[in-house]
Amino acid sequence: RDLRVLVTGGAGFIGSHACKALAAAGARPVVLDDLSTGHADAVRWGPLVRADVRDRAAVRAALTEHEATCVLHFAGKAYVDESVRDPAKYYDNNVGGMIGLLAGCTAAGVDRIVFSSSCATYGVPERLPITEATPQRPITPYGRTKLICEQMLRDHDDAHGLRHVSLRYFNAAGADPEGEIGERHDPETHLIPRALLAAAGQAPALKVFGTDYPTPDGTCIRDYIHVSDLARAHVRAIEHLMMGGGGSLALNLGSGKGLSVHEIAATVEAVTGRAVPVEAAPRRPGDPPELTADPGLAARLWGFRSERSGIAEIVRDAAPWFGL
Ligand code: UDP
Repeated sequence: RDLRVLVTGGAGFIGSHACKALAAAGARPVVLDDLSTGHADAVRWGPLVRADVRDRAAVRAALTEHEATCVLHFAGKAYVDESVRDPAKYYDNNVGGMIGLLAGCTAAGVDRIVFSSSCATYGVPERLPITEATPQRPITPYGRTKLICEQMLRDHDDAHGLRHVSLRYFNAAGADPEGEIGERHDPETHLIPRALLAAAGQAPALKVFGTDYPTPDGTCIRDYIHVSDLARAHVRAIEHLMMGGGGSLALNLGSGKGLSVHEIAATVEAVTGRAVPVEAAPRRPGDPPELTADPGLAARLWGFRSERSGIAEIVRDAAPWFGL
């Protein structure tokens, strides 16, 4: 009988790609999403339960009715700069969401959770690349809510043996190579889509947030990982939990390569053959200068390596969503 997985936030960017990967692996994703930022037409590989993850009764009912035995928890708010301006929204949705999820899981007797954490939990690291042992000192409300959620999972493991994996994503990017689903945020704040919008003439110049960072070209360095690689890692995490893997596991998911904002703009120009007009702009609050992953632990434990995360492949797969 197929494995049923509750996927909160499964109508969103990473969640929808994870659903496709689950279905390809023979599992059945059951999406729980309030569609506040997700898209109903991205839910294609199983049923959609329209509910807020803070609603513990709805979580319990979805788990029980669909006979789900594990959870991928993507639902949450994820704009770093918005979290600086409106922290209450982040504590309410992200921490409140984990409270609702844990209560619903406890009521339904489900004890396996994979959680979408973030490299934002590391803040401004003293040493690069970032390993899982790098101290977690987040510098934004968004990062703090993700760290609190990781700690909530660990506390539930200590108290009740909750089996869980926290996956600390670096910068998710790209789109389904088959073109079925892609990245659609409103507003779109992420670098690669914004560079593509500028290349397509659908936006004025790409604003480069900060050109005076202590990096070789003065712009921020990030580690971009293809959303299909992230999706595969979630299938691997489910396998880990279903095969009896326990304890409190936390893993970085990145490509291990750092790229600056200027390098991304140059790649978009090279891949699309269009100019990306750029304009220097002030730093964005909450942005560390450089975040790059040491992806070695996922490789050692699971044999997991990114496969499509070369930046040209990421941009090539994302480009059709912008008519390029
Ligand atoms: N960035 C930028 N212009 C934009 C969007 C992003 O210069 O229009 C920069 C941003 O300051 C950060 C990097 O690109 O250094 C990646 O930002 P994004 O929002 O894509 O992801 P984040 O790192 O915040 O998760």
